[in-house]
Amino acid sequence: MPATSLDTIVSLCKRRGFVFPSSSVYGGLGSTWDYGPLGVELKNNVKRAWWRSVVHERDDMEGLDAAILMNRLVWKYSGHEATFSDPMTDCRACKTRPRADHVFAAQKGRDPKGLAEINAAIEAKEIACPKCGSKDLTPARPFNLMFRTSVGPVDSGDDSGLVYLRPETAQGIFVNFGNVLDTMRRKLPFGIAQVGKAFRNEITPGNFTFRTREFEQMEIEYFVRPGEDEAAHDAWIAERKNWYLQLGMRKENLRVREQEKHELAHYAKRCVDLEYLFPMGWSELEGIANRTDFDLRAHSRSPENPDAVGELKYFDQEQKKHLVPYVIEPSAGADRATLAFLCDAYEDALVKEPPAEETAKLRDLVESFARSVGRREGMAADVKQRLVSAAEAIAAGLPATLPRLIGLMEDGEAGSIEVMKKVRGVGEKIAEEHTRTVLHLHPRLAPLTVAVFPLKRNDARLVELARSLKRDLQKAGLRAVYDDTGAIGKLYRRQDEIGTPWCITVDFQSLEDQTVTVRDRDSMQQERLKAPELATALTSRLA
Ligand code: ATP
Repeated sequence: MPATSLDTIVSLCKRRGFVFPSSSVYGGLGSTWDYGPLGVELKNNVKRAWWRSVVHERDDMEGLDAAILMNRLVWKYSGHEATFSDPMTDCRACKTRPRADHVFAAQKGRDPKGLAEINAAIEAKEIACPKCGSKDLTPARPFNLMFRTSVGPVDSGDDSGLVYLRPETAQGIFVNFGNVLDTMRRKLPFGIAQVGKAFRNEITPGNFTFRTREFEQMEIEYFVRPGEDEAAHDAWIAERKNWYLQLGMRKENLRVREQEKHELAHYAKRCVDLEYLFPMGWSELEGIANRTDFDLRAHSRSPENPDAVGELKYFDQEQKKHLVPYVIEPSAGADRATLAFLCDAYEDALVKEPPAEETAKLRDLVESFARSVGRREGMAADVKQRLVSAAEAIAAGLPATLPRLIGLMEDGEAGSIEVMKKVRGVGEKIAEEHTRTVLHLHPRLAPLTVAVFPLKRNDARLVELARSLKRDLQKAGLRAVYDDTGAIGKLYRRQDEIGTPWCITVDFQSLEDQTVTVRDRDSMQQERLKAPELATALTSRLA
C-alpha cells in the first residue's frame, strides 16, 4: 500500500531518524524540522543528483554559491520589497490567520484573480475560516514574506543596517551574471546553478517539510538570446521532468501544469509547474519560468536604477552588438523533492496473516483506544479527531491495516492515553512478525547503499570478515554500514524500512570461498557474489 496520508511518512521519518521536529527539548518551533542521520544523507543525495545532472553532465552550465545576506538594494530593485507578499486574512472568531488566496482556492475550486476578488468574496461571506467555519473574516491584506535582520553590532532602529535573509537563491545568480560571464568566458546560451537556503515568513506553513519558513532551493538561471527563449523553455521542462522519472518517481504521480495568465508573476512570460501527487493532493514541486530580461535589466544602471554600478549585458560577437539575455528559470525545492521521493518510495504490506484470535484481540484494544480518546478532556479537538479517525480506520481494516498501526503506536499524543500501553503490548509483536515496510528509493538516493551483517555476531572470524568488507566498500565510495544487533531477518526488515538497496550477509561458506550473500531490497532475491568483486558490481548497479 502506498502512503495515503502524510502522517505515515512523518511517523516513519521520526521513528527512523530522517526528520525530527526542531528544538524539541523546548517544545519545538512550529513547522521547523531538523534532518536526522538518515535524512541528511537522503537530502544530500537528492542535491548531489541534481548538481550532477544540471552542472557536471552538461557543457553549458556553471555552479555558484552566493551569500545568503546581500545588499538590501538587491531586494529593492528585484521588486521583492514592494511585491513579495501573500494576502492574509484574520478570523475574528478563532483568531487564526490563514492565507486568503488558499482559502479562496480551496472553497471556490479555482484560484482568485487578485486581492479585489478575494475581498469581494470575504465581503459577500462566500468563504469561511478553514479552522472554525466562521465567515467573520477581516479584509485580506498583503504580508511581506521576507525575514528582516540587521548587520553590525548596533541596531540603530532606523533601518540603516537592515538586511534580509534571502527569500530565493535566484537573485544571487543574477547579480553574479557578469562575474561568471567574464571569468568563465561563456557564450550564450549558458546557465548558472545554485543550491542553498532560502527563507520566507510563510503565513501558513505546514504539511511537514512541504512548506516551511527555512528551506533549500535548487535553482538554475539559463541565459539565452531573445527569440531563443521559447525553445529553451520547452527543453528545460522536458529535461527537469525526466530527472524525477530517471530517479524512479512514478510517472502517474508527476504532471506538468501550465500556469494561467492571472497566476503569472509580473516578470514572467510563461511558467509551468511540475506537480507531484502528494498524499494531500497535487502540489508544486518545481516551477519553470520564462523570466524574460526582467532581472538583468532591473539590476542594470538606468534612470529607474541609479544605484547599480553598471549594466548586466552580453556582447554578441556575431551581431557585433550588446544584448540583454532572456532567462529560463527551473526552480526546485530540495526539501519538497526529498519529501516527494519519500512518499513515492513508501510501501507497506502485510506479509502473512496473523492468527484470527490475535487480530480480534488487537481490534478490541484499538476500538477501546478510539473510545478513550473520544472521552478524553483537555485534548485539542484536531488531535482528538485525527487519533479517533486513524484508530477507527485501523480497527475496521485489521489485519490489512497492521502496518498503519505502527505509526499510531509511535504517535506521541496517542501515548498519553492509558490503553495505548496495552495496544503496544499486543500490537508491536504482531506488527513486527507480519508486516513489511519498504522505501523503494532509487539506489543513488538511498541514505545507505549497503549494509553488511555477520551471520553470527559471536564468531570472531565472521565479524572480522564482515567489518573488513564494510571498510572496503566504503573505500570504494559506497555508503556502507556494519550491523550485528539482531537476527538476520530483523536486520533485513530494518534496512528495508530505510530504503537500503542491498544487504550482505557473511556466513561460514564465506570463510572458505570468499563469497557472500547479496539480498536485493525490492525483489528480496539473494545471490552469491565474490567479496572482492562486490564493490565493482554494486557501483555498476548505481549508475
Ligand atoms: P508555493 O506556490 O508553493 O508557495 P512558489 O511558487 O512561491 O511556491 P517559488 O518561488 O517558485 O515557489 O520557489 C521555487 C521552489 O522552491 C518551489 O517549487 C518549492 O519547491 C520551493 N519552495 C518555495 N517555497 C517553499 C517553502 N515555503 N517551503 C519549502 N519549499 C519551498
